[in-house]
Amino acid sequence: MLLQVPRGTKDILPEETPVWQEVESKARRIFSLYNYAEIRTPVFENVTLFKRALGDVTDIVQKQMFVFKQGDDHFVLRPEATASIARAYLENNLGFGVKLRKLFYIGPMFRAERPQKGRLRQFHHIGVEAIGLTNPNLDIEVIELADKLLREFGISNYKFVINSLGCVKDKAKFADLLKQALAKHKKVLCKDCQKRITKNVFRVLDCKNEKCKEITHSLKIGQSYLCGDCKSHFDKVLKGLDKFGIKYEVKEQLVRGLDYYSGVVFEVVHPDLGAQDALGAGGRYDYLFKELANKEIGAVGFAFGEERLMLALPKKESSKKLNVYVMSLGDKAADKSLELVKNLRSAGVSCDFDYSDGSLKSKLNEANKLGARFAIIIGDDEINKGKLVVKFMQEGKQEEVEFVNAVGFIKNILKE
Ligand SMILES: [Zn+2]
Ligand SMILES: [Zn+2]
Repeated sequence: MLLQVPRGTKDILPEETPVWQEVESKARRIFSLYNYAEIRTPVFENVTLFKRALGDVTDIVQKQMFVFKQGDDHFVLRPEATASIARAYLENNLGFGVKLRKLFYIGPMFRAERPQKGRLRQFHHIGVEAIGLTNPNLDIEVIELADKLLREFGISNYKFVINSLGCVKDKAKFADLLKQALAKHKKVLCKDCQKRITKNVFRVLDCKNEKCKEITHSLKIGQSYLCGDCKSHFDKVLKGLDKFGIKYEVKEQLVRGLDYYSGVVFEVVHPDLGAQDALGAGGRYDYLFKELANKEIGAVGFAFGEERLMLALPKKESSKKLNVYVMSLGDKAADKSLELVKNLRSAGVSCDFDYSDGSLKSKLNEANKLGARFAIIIGDDEINKGKLVVKFMQEGKQEEVEFVNAVGFIKNILKE
């Protein structure tokens, strides 16, 4: 039997990687404009980190963690990066001497869920975390940055949906209101949700069961649970988004699937992804640091799913092509050709050599398949004259060029 990639994982093939590289390099450039620095944490962590950070009753912790044992230690492949970065921030004292730490990351995440359309067991996130302050202007910057990224990627038709969970007290009130509202419908809810009402009522809102969704969508909780400070924080953020012309919709009952969120939370939705899935999501998590280290540290961030970005990107042909494909006919010509290949590469011209014993026709065919802009043909005949033939693959014309001038000739045309 042919060996296959594990279910729920995917090879990202050479035809696809140029788009990934472009998205990632654009993201890196923009992150640096906003003063974010990259952090790279391990892909696995101690299991306790995620249990404490994400909450014991979340779907991720209960059903989706890739846990493995090594000796007496239990590890988990990271299901998301925020908890790891909070851990790294605390462990490396990254808040020392600065009021705000702005960090970004790009990398694979892992969830052991049943593979289905649009959900992989290994997927990739691009995200940021701004750690150290609770100022609402920082929430605005983070959302504006998410918006900027999407626009630079050429993605349109997306929309931000936003809500505020409020502070710990507000969140508790919100939970009470939810419990009261759901109690009336308890019998209709799925078995899991009936338990969730008492264990962690917010998770009822993430339930994928159709009946549960119908009920949660019909609830009218409002935002009366927000205290004065949290209400004014939320209003400031919305005003800021208006000022930047960022489209959003306030959505009651948007809570995100993780316990560490508080205050402003948001998702970016896109019509190409269907109703359930968001391009990305984020929000405040001011109490995560309390959970992990009993410290009061304000923080806000977001993450985009890279696979989902790929679905929403405008389709276009890759601009990365081979400049020159060199081919020789005869032994003497081969030596001379390899010298030329080396010189072209040194001059910054992408270049490859045909190592096959094929005919000229088959070599030109290969140049065509590779999408090379020029083919350079060197035969023993040409060597004697100190010349070579440059074939313009698109235009179909060719020119004889002095061997010593070949690099300059190619560079000149590429500059045009
Ligand atoms: Zn509050
Ligand atoms: Zn349910």
